[in-house]
Amino acid sequence: MSSYEAVIGLEIHVQLNTNSKIFCACKADSWGDPPNTNICPVCTGQPGVLPVPNQAVIEKGALLATALHAEVQPVSYFDRKNYFYPDLPKGYQISQYDIAIGKGGYLEFPIENGTMRKVLIEKLHIEEDAGKTIHKPGRRLLDFNRCGVPLVEMVTGPDLRSADEAAEFIRYFRKLVRWIGISDADMEKGKMRFDANVSIREEGSTVLNPKTEIKNMNSIEHGREAMKAEIKRQIKEVEGGGVIESWTLDWDEENKTLSKMRSKETEADYRYFKEPDLLAVTLSEERIQDLKNSLPELPNERRNNFMEGYNLSSHDSNILTSDFDISNFFIDTVETYDTDAQITSNWLINDVQGMMNDLNLSISELYFSPEHLASIIALVEEGTINTSTGKALVRKTQQQGKEPRDIVEQEGLGQVTDSAAIESICQEIIQENPDQVEQYKSGKGGVIGWLVGQVMAKSGGKADPKAVRETLEGLLK
Ligand SMILES: [Zn+2]
Repeated sequence: MSSYEAVIGLEIHVQLNTNSKIFCACKADSWGDPPNTNICPVCTGQPGVLPVPNQAVIEKGALLATALHAEVQPVSYFDRKNYFYPDLPKGYQISQYDIAIGKGGYLEFPIENGTMRKVLIEKLHIEEDAGKTIHKPGRRLLDFNRCGVPLVEMVTGPDLRSADEAAEFIRYFRKLVRWIGISDADMEKGKMRFDANVSIREEGSTVLNPKTEIKNMNSIEHGREAMKAEIKRQIKEVEGGGVIESWTLDWDEENKTLSKMRSKETEADYRYFKEPDLLAVTLSEERIQDLKNSLPELPNERRNNFMEGYNLSSHDSNILTSDFDISNFFIDTVETYDTDAQITSNWLINDVQGMMNDLNLSISELYFSPEHLASIIALVEEGTINTSTGKALVRKTQQQGKEPRDIVEQEGLGQVTDSAAIESICQEIIQENPDQVEQYKSGKGGVIGWLVGQVMAKSGGKADPKAVRETLEGLLK
């Protein structure tokens, strides 16, 4: 039996986070709005109307092209893609065909074994979305709110070699579009969705066999399962002497099955032609250069810099660069307040992120700032408070909206380091607990931990636990 490898290419649609739609002033994000409330004659294709391009869409598309190392085209064109579907009232979609905003490019992303996989970008263009068809028993309902919502479509080369790798690519791409601020890519809200072109070949071969296309997936995990199932189906088909036909497939998430939708359209079926109602899209060389300069350090570069520049583990670096704002928070704290990188990473990953999860807030929504974190780290380092008070102080700062040092002062949270005060509490605890003291003296050394706990509790958590232990040991000698 031969061994096979998968050949996968992806088509990913991302909704751009502009305020208005691509060719009219209607609100772009209709999530939660009643059907057909964000529509106008332009996006519903009434006769006699003219589209006006939204400059923000063009800029965001160009920024993504830059991040993908593509050549941003100084002149590109809108084209009409003609097809009939009930949720497309115009009878065509305005897209870009042969001369699009981005040309070429690639995306490199880390795969499981720690190496990088380079995926070429075959197409990158901006276009408008179609409406939505809602299927009800015996009826089809149409919602045009999504008509004219700006999208960027990216088509990759057939460069991915397994369903897992394709899923990893989509995850990284989603991180990238969020990172550069062009979309929140919320897949549950349909703001990012993808199709997968799947074929198989004998390992080592370089031929491209006929492929099938799995349409409209909006979950990375479900997409991975669908691709796995399709790869398995194709291998079984070929091993049984069959041939793979170019089908378009639909993945049924509930039953975990693929079904045939229709034979795949070819580009000729769409009768593309230049959009006669719109001028060419132009970007000056200066503007293209500005976009290049405005691009932040990308997730992978930053991850590597965290490992090399700050000596952090790959685990910590991955977490800190999972989100652009979190990575900036880290850099701000370390660079502006000169805190230790590893200590800052620990506080940020364990305590600040823990608080964010509990409060369901993003880091930019917090009152808590890099300055506050640096201040708490300093309070612990200088011995004013102990670590557990510091952990509580992270949340108190956020809740009370005050400076950590002020809270320590107002609430008297300062660590008791005064040896006389500690000794006096230890004496009290020894007197109050003769049984435990007896046990300790008769050789049960572990009881010391319990006694330390009692002293800590009596001090309101403010005593220095190390000093308490030493004092108790001294007194019980
Ligand atoms: Zn409109």
